[in-house]
Amino acid sequence: RQGVVVITGASSGLGLAAAKALSETGKWHVVMACRDFLKASKAAKSAGMATGSYTVMHLDLASLDSVRQFVEHFRRTGMPLDALVCNAAIYRPTASTPTFTADGVEMSVGVNHLGHFLLARLLMDDLKSSDYPSRRLVIVGSITGNDNTLAGNVPPKADLGDLRGLAGGLSGSSSGSAMIDGSASFDGAKAYKDSKVCNMLTMQEFHRRYHEETGITFASLYPGCIATTGLFREHVPLFRALFPAFQRFITKGFVSEAESGKRLAQVVAEPSLTKSGVYWSWNKDSASFENQLSKEASDPEKARKVWELSEKLVGLA
Ligand code: NDP
Repeated sequence: RQGVVVITGASSGLGLAAAKALSETGKWHVVMACRDFLKASKAAKSAGMATGSYTVMHLDLASLDSVRQFVEHFRRTGMPLDALVCNAAIYRPTASTPTFTADGVEMSVGVNHLGHFLLARLLMDDLKSSDYPSRRLVIVGSITGNDNTLAGNVPPKADLGDLRGLAGGLSGSSSGSAMIDGSASFDGAKAYKDSKVCNMLTMQEFHRRYHEETGITFASLYPGCIATTGLFREHVPLFRALFPAFQRFITKGFVSEAESGKRLAQVVAEPSLTKSGVYWSWNKDSASFENQLSKEASDPEKARKVWELSEKLVGLA
């Protein structure tokens, strides 16, 4: 039978390109889990995805109620779940004041990490009961959260500190910080990088807790710098104008949306990429390899603490 994959944030960029790549194989039905139903439908059509090869379903990761509703709605369709891709993200690189989810949590970590954490935890039961030969949970990471790389050393660097802000609920109120490390001032660029570290830690903690028992493959990846996606929409205009050329000619890290989509599709479907607990990257010849994570992004103690604090914040503990 066809595999069924749920991809969050499939209305643009990497998520859309991966949705297209997987649906074109004819082996996958893609559930596009998106906050803007109309935008996602239009995006699928203009990308040329064949009618019947995908289903658009509403999911707003900035609301834990919406995450729970999505899971119920998905189950009611009767479709099995063979792969889940946590891809959606927001990036507010120039923001010096926080915005908040429906649950009152700082938006970058709320959407990129906590919404996905709840979604993946709830959908574990569905992945477990699938009879598909290779079931996978993929959480999109990033180089920017890895301070063992050049890009990860551009300040402000990711640093979760002792997690006191996360423990306080990222409420940004007079008594609580909106930053994971508890710092008093808000930095949107750092909040994004911190959220990506949480994504990579979460993937590894899933692997430790569930891989042996379930056989599910847990993986993360850095798809390359896709300098043309909507992720940079909130950046200053000069940055947006120059960044693609900078990546293409100076760092040579530039990757097209189509190529990045193929990479993510490989992590979902390639028979050779079944190893669990891996953070995949691609070399200049577009060959995949197991990459090293930074010290913080591979710290098992931190991963356990992030998991436990996140459980409390999403109402699982
Ligand atoms: P885009 O901005 O193009 O795509 C992000 C997607 O997330 C959009 O579909 C967006 O929906 C969706 N989204 C945002 N907020 C929510 C929400 N509250 N609920 C549901 N969906 C939401 O960016 P990219 O394609 O570049 O980013 C995709 C992933 O790739 C992210 O995880 C990012 O961290 C990662 N990444 C990107 C890199 C790059 O260079 N671009 C490099 C490394 C990693 P909408 O269309 O409605 O806005």
